[in-house]
Amino acid sequence: MNFSSKLLEQAVEEFGKLPGVGKKTALRLVLHLLKQSDADVSRFTTSLDRLKSDIKYCKTCFNISDHDVCEICSSVKRDRHIVCVVEDTRDVMAIENTNQFNGLYHVLGGLISPMEGVGPADLKIEGLIDRVRSGEIQEVILALSATMEGDTTIFYLYRKLRDFQIQISTIARGISFGGELEYVDEITLGRSIATRIPYERNVG
Ligand SMILES: [Zn+2]
Repeated sequence: MNFSSKLLEQAVEEFGKLPGVGKKTALRLVLHLLKQSDADVSRFTTSLDRLKSDIKYCKTCFNISDHDVCEICSSVKRDRHIVCVVEDTRDVMAIENTNQFNGLYHVLGGLISPMEGVGPADLKIEGLIDRVRSGEIQEVILALSATMEGDTTIFYLYRKLRDFQIQISTIARGISFGGELEYVDEITLGRSIATRIPYERNVG
């Protein structure tokens, strides 16, 4: 692309770094922004600025939050005996949308993936063990994607958690293998949480 302006080229280059955004789309987005009012563009850039500087991670469940402890962890209406373990904040959003789960969450921040060099130490696994050790939790639901990485992570967590006096369950896999949790429809996801199964039964 031959740009008539260095500033335009730089902006297109930055937008083009976003996942799923090619050069053409990046150019379309930048030209669109150029046509917006100063106030709109300012709101846009402020929200991006604050995204990195002000967003926090809940110190209990590690979900993205505006506060040190997120709204779910600090709610008195939630069942504190059940913790649903998920890969990232998109899964929390998907499960909350089902209205089928009233417990707490634990956000791992990824899945174990030797191929991508992600090991257990890169995830919030110790934080989960600490929560279970504190004794309030009676059940841990491992709600991870039905992928190789999901299964590897579930098995690792199971070995870490099996000696505690808690129930360990996985969500029922009405979800096809390879299914990413965030793409599953709400009804299927809600049902798979309601009909979760003890993990021991899976490993035999
Ligand atoms: Zn939290």
